[in-house]
Amino acid sequence: MNKIEHIGIAVNELSRANAIYERLLGVAPYKTELVEGEGVATSFFQCGESKIELLEATRPDSPIAKFIEKRGEGIHHIAFAVADIKAELERLKANGFVILNETPKEGADNKWVAFLHPKHTSGVLVELCQERNNK
Ligand code: ZN
Repeated sequence: MNKIEHIGIAVNELSRANAIYERLLGVAPYKTELVEGEGVATSFFQCGESKIELLEATRPDSPIAKFIEKRGEGIHHIAFAVADIKAELERLKANGFVILNETPKEGADNKWVAFLHPKHTSGVLVELCQERNNK
């Protein structure tokens, strides 16, 4: 694990949350992106070395819609940057973590991503991400 790459925050309404985080961080989002497969619209803010990812559900069966239904808006996941996502997943599996998608999938912001079950990480959904042009 190299660093905290970003923190994902589930929001009801991306345009409204964008305005709030723009005021909070003093910068505009550097990118907004639709991830069809996950049913989410995202925006990214740079904050020093790390990023904030805002996530709005685009359909009712989106994981973000389900999250907000249960828990309301708030921190959804913490993402760690890794150099080799497959090797890292093997290491974590050998250490007893449960991986939600064993094959890394294409995530937002040009990343390969995989998630760990929050049951084994003190209730926090953990994302691993690797730059897609990297491998
Ligand atoms: Zn993320």
